[in-house]
Amino acid sequence: MHPLSGQNIILASAHGKEAALAPLFYEAFGAEVLVPPTLPDTDLLGTFSGERDRPGNITETMFLKVHLVRQQYPDTPILVSEGSFGPHPAVPLMAIDREWVGLWLPQDDRMVAGFAVSTETNYAHTEPQNVQDLLIFREQANQTGPGHHLILDYDITSPWLTGQTERVYHKGLYTDEALMVAWSAYLNEGLPNSARLSTDMRAHHNPSRMRVIALAGADLIQTLNRRCTRCQSIGFELVGSNAGLPCANCGRPTKLPLSKVYECQVCDHQDVVPVEATAADAMYCDWCNG
Ligand SMILES: [Zn+2]
Ligand SMILES: [Zn+2]
Repeated sequence: MHPLSGQNIILASAHGKEAALAPLFYEAFGAEVLVPPTLPDTDLLGTFSGERDRPGNITETMFLKVHLVRQQYPDTPILVSEGSFGPHPAVPLMAIDREWVGLWLPQDDRMVAGFAVSTETNYAHTEPQNVQDLLIFREQANQTGPGHHLILDYDITSPWLTGQTERVYHKGLYTDEALMVAWSAYLNEGLPNSARLSTDMRAHHNPSRMRVIALAGADLIQTLNRRCTRCQSIGFELVGSNAGLPCANCGRPTKLPLSKVYECQVCDHQDVVPVEATAADAMYCDWCNG
């Protein structure tokens, strides 16, 4: 029997991610993903709208979230999720969404992680000049389906400190009315040319992101279902690959993987598993395609 069978799992997230993750864990393990009524304020660890910079890298942030929650639930597996958005490394005009979902296992104090990357994201921002700009941007943000909210933020003169400015955020904007209210607030109190309009990347306001989170969750479940071939622990992780799959045309090694490397976090055992393919298309061969 799988150690997660019928277990309760705590989801350390206030942004509705259970919609993407709970069905997966229920189907795979009969496990119940629960969002506790009171959660530590994980927004302290940074948000997407820019008020607060996130400490450390993704893995560190996931461990920090676990750390905040495990004080309350020391014996329950804890699920955490993090995303990162930005321009595509090869195609700068295209955006990508990278999602990590980690499950912390209290028995041996370790985290098993799943990952997904997708170009199916509306991540973008603009500097709107008028109402027309708001409506056009909202339409673009909802090209992959309805339900994608926006954030309008701008500088105001600080009411507390002379000569200082403060950033004001209107989040979760979707309806015409909400957009107009935020826009008139900017016209009334915002400093000129300081308005920025961006896609709201919080999961409950971004169905595209929710789909990528589900893909990362599915990847995590696949890893949780893979057992170490030596100690049988769950979560035998893919940690790398060895290039060198031979070219189908000339037989020289290509950059495509010849084998994949799996590693156990509990006993450090590694397995090198050959890939199913026996040859690479000549298009991947530096010699034939060079
Ligand atoms: Zn092992
Ligand atoms: Zn070749």
